[in-house]
Amino acid sequence: MSKTRLALLTAIAAAIALFFAFDLGQFFSLEYFKSKQAEIMAFYHANPWQTALVFFAIYVAVTGLSLPGAAIMTLVAGAIFGLLVGTIIVSFASTIGATLAFLASRFLFKDAVQRKFGDKLRAINAGIQREGAFYLFTLRLVPLFPFFVINLVMGLTPIKTRTFYWVSQVGMLLGTLVYVNAGTQLAQIQSLKGILSPGLLLSFALLGVFPLIAKRIVALVKVRKVYAKWTRPTRFDRNLVVIGAGSAGLVAAYIAAAVKAKVTLIEKHRMGGDCLNTGCVPSKALIRSAKLLSQIRHARNYGIRSAQAEFDFADVMERVQKVIRAIEPHDSVERYTGLGVEVIEGEAKITSPWTVEVRTSGSLRTLTTRSIVIAAGAQPFVPPIPGIGEVGYVTSDTIWKLRALPRRLVVLGGGPIGSELTQAFARFGSQVTQVEMLPRILIREDPEISEMVAQRLREDGVNVLVNHKAKQFAMEGGEKVLIAEHAGTDVRIPFDQVLVAVGRVANTTGYGLEELGIGTTRQRTVETNEFLETIYPNIYACGDVAGPFQFTHTASHQAWYASVNALFGRLKRFRADYSVIPWATFTEPEVARVGLNESEAKEKGIAYEVTTYGIDDLDRAIADGEAHGLVKVLTVPGKDRILGATIVGEHAGDLIIEYIAAMKHGIGLNKILGTIHIYPTLAEANKYAAGNWKRAHVSPKTLEWLGRYHAWMRG
Ligand SMILES: Cc1cc2nc3c(=O)[nH]c(=O)nc-3n(C[C@H](O)[C@H](O)[C@H](O)COP(=O)(O)OP(=O)(O)OC[C@H]3O[C@@H](n4cnc5c(N)ncnc54)[C@H](O)[C@@H]3O)c2cc1C
Repeated sequence: MSKTRLALLTAIAAAIALFFAFDLGQFFSLEYFKSKQAEIMAFYHANPWQTALVFFAIYVAVTGLSLPGAAIMTLVAGAIFGLLVGTIIVSFASTIGATLAFLASRFLFKDAVQRKFGDKLRAINAGIQREGAFYLFTLRLVPLFPFFVINLVMGLTPIKTRTFYWVSQVGMLLGTLVYVNAGTQLAQIQSLKGILSPGLLLSFALLGVFPLIAKRIVALVKVRKVYAKWTRPTRFDRNLVVIGAGSAGLVAAYIAAAVKAKVTLIEKHRMGGDCLNTGCVPSKALIRSAKLLSQIRHARNYGIRSAQAEFDFADVMERVQKVIRAIEPHDSVERYTGLGVEVIEGEAKITSPWTVEVRTSGSLRTLTTRSIVIAAGAQPFVPPIPGIGEVGYVTSDTIWKLRALPRRLVVLGGGPIGSELTQAFARFGSQVTQVEMLPRILIREDPEISEMVAQRLREDGVNVLVNHKAKQFAMEGGEKVLIAEHAGTDVRIPFDQVLVAVGRVANTTGYGLEELGIGTTRQRTVETNEFLETIYPNIYACGDVAGPFQFTHTASHQAWYASVNALFGRLKRFRADYSVIPWATFTEPEVARVGLNESEAKEKGIAYEVTTYGIDDLDRAIADGEAHGLVKVLTVPGKDRILGATIVGEHAGDLIIEYIAAMKHGIGLNKILGTIHIYPTLAEANKYAAGNWKRAHVSPKTLEWLGRYHAWMRG
């Protein structure tokens, strides 16, 4: 704590201590006032200005130092100065005093509190920034929380001082009036209980419910406004229509059918969406074949003198399709129909908040529905780089059609999709150049983690170019060339095929969102609130179309909230819980993460400790010839509570589950250490990481005493 802060804290503490040491509280009682009332009134009549000024100053001091007595002083103000002057004095004095307490709390504690609990306060901070004035107004009007607590707590939030001042003054005005008014009757009131007359009680009750009613009214007005131009059907054919049968839509429809709602799922392309047809499934099938090739190439490491693989890339791509076909039944029309979902293969368009038009090959139908879930997914983003159209390109949507292996492949993008496909194609024998404009690939991971993957890609023969910004595509001498800018100079990269994998954009156009005025975020996803509700409380969005994550497991996680809120929102709504979000990148080495990594903890100013365990030391990894990678766990300093974990290595995506469960259910490293892990498994790495944490936290003093105890036992 700085010297100024310490001095201020000492001064405040001393003033408060003096107040109690000299029992100054006795002067802030009705009894004391009543005993001196005649003298005080005489002084006031003789010296009205001085009385008002002294009273004002004492009021500011009492409220500024958060001392008890403000309520009594408000009553006394009524008794001495009458309703009008009393209200003016108290209104300004209480607001100035409150603001001083607010500023002191902010100066003394805000930085420390935000630093320590920044991550937990994020939602509160965002709420205060958005609706701080309304929260404060509500708190001022509803005398549920003590006055001084509001001042001190508000000082710790990001609310502006100006806002705090005026909202406090306005918010407290009615309460002040009621109290000062009661004070004017003070001659008749014998104790504080006396002010609780039926009339006053009623006015307080009204004050209490007023903000709630006000908020409800505001919400109702907003809703009426968005629905105003639409005609609501008198009845609905369905409870729910789900647009899109990808990971999100399938789960949303499944949940609705499971709770016996009448639900229709509409898919315009292929059941299963991206994940099954062009995303997770084909990429993992391709990666498996590529890994086998890599293992055969490294057969010597396993004691096999010679092993050779002959393959045709077309066969590999056919196997990918076979895998899709094998998984297809899980997401099929037949399966979902059997589960009670009506499936329509056609293109949906929302035509009003309660109607969805479906265009199938032979017809156009309009469905009426009480609620809608938008699960329309995303598509690869193709940046408008000059010449890209002329040279031609593939994306994660179209690459699956390739049957000939490109000799020279440029992969634009160093994210998970780009990195996974880069490695796979390199292992099949393409000369792959991966081009990333940022300083490293897998930028969301910690630098050393990115480097572990980049290193492996280089070993697989990939030319990993970071800090290279794709500027232009061109045909030069009959050859396709990418011109990228690096450190101020142009680098020319000749290629035969380019895969564009620089991100994915949500599908937000062409199916009614524009007409309904449903907006998009800065990330170009459908705008929803924490309940995944759009501006229309009966229309929800989930999955890639809603963001902020773009994974199959987050799509289905959100789908539960969207579907349940759409069906039962009138009774209870659930906030989408993003507290523990995991993901994995299926390169070799695999990278899996849950919660914070070190870079994020630093960026957010969250205090942390790091514990690592090198998987090169793990028995099973050594036996498997996979002795590489690490477990890196972030914990709260001095505690075993997990803030996040990253695992790099074989099956990292499976190993991370232990940390996901631990974080979700509040289990710390001590409990992981105390759990039996089967020997010899890769999962033991998690336990050894917990063991490393434990060793670092055993007190040297305890060990010293234990040493002495054992020496004594030896005699
Ligand atoms: C190459 C690649 C690899 C990936 N690997 C992984 C991975 O390993 N793990 C992971 O978790 N995630 C992975 N993902 C991401 C994952 O595929 C997506 O996050 C997931 O598919 C999103 O599901 P969704 O339901 O939101 O959208 P989608 O799966 O895109 O489904 C949306 C559906 O809506 C349909 N639709 C759109 N508009 C309409 C309309 N108007 N009418 C009717 N239907 C409509 C579309 O045809 C589509 O089928 C990968 C993605 C790619 C591209």
